[in-house]
Amino acid sequence: MDNKKRQALRTIILKRLADVNRQAGHAPGEPDAEERPADPVDQAAQERERDLLRLFRARENAEIQKLTLALDRMEQGSYGICLSCDGEISGKRLTAEPTALLCVDCQEKRERNRTAAAR
Ligand SMILES: [Zn+2]
Repeated sequence: MDNKKRQALRTIILKRLADVNRQAGHAPGEPDAEERPADPVDQAAQERERDLLRLFRARENAEIQKLTLALDRMEQGSYGICLSCDGEISGKRLTAEPTALLCVDCQEKRERNRTAAAR
């Protein structure tokens, strides 16, 4: 992969990272433990809200981790190299999915295995 291409992908990744971080900033904060409602019904509602929030955050964190990992790999010069077979991940695939860690072949193999395991 040439430098120009890598720079372009780096820009995309940084932009995505900024987007996710901005969304995270808008997420409502965890309610203070002190403000716990006395009413058990309210408490249950608050618990549900917290669970949703946790789920939402976990998903965001996974995205941030993936983006950060891609940037790390760029720094180390291993970006665009398949983690499984050491082959080159095609530029087309990286443009579609800049955080891809596997080449198309390995990704397909993995998905097939996952589908087989789910049966
Ligand atoms: Zn591969």
